[in-house]
Amino acid sequence: MPKLWQTISRHIVAPSQLNAGVLFSLLTPAGRSLHLRRHAAAVILARVQLIAALFAVLVPLCSIIDLLVFPGDLAWLLITMRTVSTLLFIALAWPRELSVEHPYRQALFSLLGLLMIPPMFHLFTAEALAHADATQAQRLVAQLYTYLPTVVLGGLAIFPLTALETLFLALPVIATGLLGASVNQSLNLEQHGGILWFMSMMLGVAIFSGMSQCHYMATLVLRAMHDPLTAAFTRQSGEEALNLLFRLNAMADKPLTVAFFDLDRFKSINDTWGHETGDRCLQMMADSIRQGLRRSDLLVRWGGEEFIALLPDTPSGNVAILLRRLRATGFGTRPDGTPLTVSVGIAESREDGIGSWEQLIQRADQRMYAAKALGRDGVVTPDGEHISLAP
Ligand code: GH3
Ligand code: MG
Ligand code: MG
Repeated sequence: MPKLWQTISRHIVAPSQLNAGVLFSLLTPAGRSLHLRRHAAAVILARVQLIAALFAVLVPLCSIIDLLVFPGDLAWLLITMRTVSTLLFIALAWPRELSVEHPYRQALFSLLGLLMIPPMFHLFTAEALAHADATQAQRLVAQLYTYLPTVVLGGLAIFPLTALETLFLALPVIATGLLGASVNQSLNLEQHGGILWFMSMMLGVAIFSGMSQCHYMATLVLRAMHDPLTAAFTRQSGEEALNLLFRLNAMADKPLTVAFFDLDRFKSINDTWGHETGDRCLQMMADSIRQGLRRSDLLVRWGGEEFIALLPDTPSGNVAILLRRLRATGFGTRPDGTPLTVSVGIAESREDGIGSWEQLIQRADQRMYAAKALGRDGVVTPDGEHISLAP
């Protein structure tokens, strides 16, 4: 049985193992990291905007069909509804920045708005369309309109959503669809069974496709986020995190501290013992720094042997705690048995009166170089103090 499950997961859901933790992350968004959530929000919002832009063009164009097929009154009702829908699509397609504070909420509400436009169109035109049965063309087009909520459910499939999210977004669409279907005759299995079955099928496809996309997205994002050698964040994802943390901490008037680490005399390790030994030293250094950090801190590999620790909501004074811990554990040993040492520059957003994350890094980098000039194996703090890291 487990083998069968693995085969199914590998071939259908994704080309990687699907364990209980991964499965849970595909069922509900709870526990998703801030970074992943932001990434998913950006993807969802971009797709909402693209589809809304497409519909803002297509929906008014289809007025021609209404004018050709339906009598004057009904055609004008449909065209009025099309105009309202088009305006809503334009509003959704309008270029806007991803919210800093609540990107995911913004993305889901935009998506809900997009999803609800066609079913509402159907609901408000259902009664008038039910009487449009004078010609075969009228009956055909009127019937096509009744499929709008179902098509929307199918459209949910292109969004990287967890199963629960797809279900919750689908519920108002289904409810509005059924309301539209019951405008002219009360709901009954004979008349509406077909559309209910069709909706359930579409919902199933959307849930499956959403989970699959979620899994691919998370796998790719997590892989791209981490440096394979040291498991620290890569420079690119580190910059994204810095940008976000800088703005969030500034908005909440909280201090963001960065510590810029550079391994001392690293080149000589490579030159004497080779690159692979050098790589192992980098791993030791990254592991040591990570052990001293809190869960909310991030470690970024900024360059070859340069690492940055991002310490949100931390005044630079509190870095002394981190430094004490690091001094006690050390940074590993060089191949000749002597300790690996680092030079560190500290900068803090509020204390340094800094306006951008780039300046924050630049300031920490300058202090790291100052620590090198002062004899290495030490830290330079925002108030210019030089502290030795030697145990
Ligand atoms: P300093 O105390 O002034 O920092 O001296 P240093 O030798 O550490 O400084 P320098 O910047 O001259 O040397 C950095 C070296 O890091 C040069 C490069 O060969 C090495 N390096 C960069 N990335 C990697 C990597 O991924 N693996 C290994 N093994 N070495 C790397
Ligand atoms: Mg360097
Ligand atoms: Mg160095």
